[in-house]
Amino acid sequence: MTSTETTFMYVAMCMGCGDMKAYDIPTDGYTKWKHGVKIQLAMPDVDKAIREFLKTQICGDCWDAMFALFEGDDKDVTPPSHVPPVTE
Ligand SMILES: [Zn+2]
Repeated sequence: MTSTETTFMYVAMCMGCGDMKAYDIPTDGYTKWKHGVKIQLAMPDVDKAIREFLKTQICGDCWDAMFALFEGDDKDVTPPSHVPPVTE
């Protein structure tokens, strides 16, 4: 532990589950991100799930739930048929 990095408490409500989330975010990285630096470059040490939350306000648990849903359905996805049956 040699880090003297300044952090602040980022608090926001998850739009998915409505839970209040609080994360320690490096002030420097957050400022860089707000100035246009890609979030993964601005704060590489911050957990990916937390970075996603900063961007989307959706927590890691909700992402997991969503991906599970997509993956589970993937095989059976067929485009909805808007083509009327051909009748002669
Ligand atoms: Zn959530």
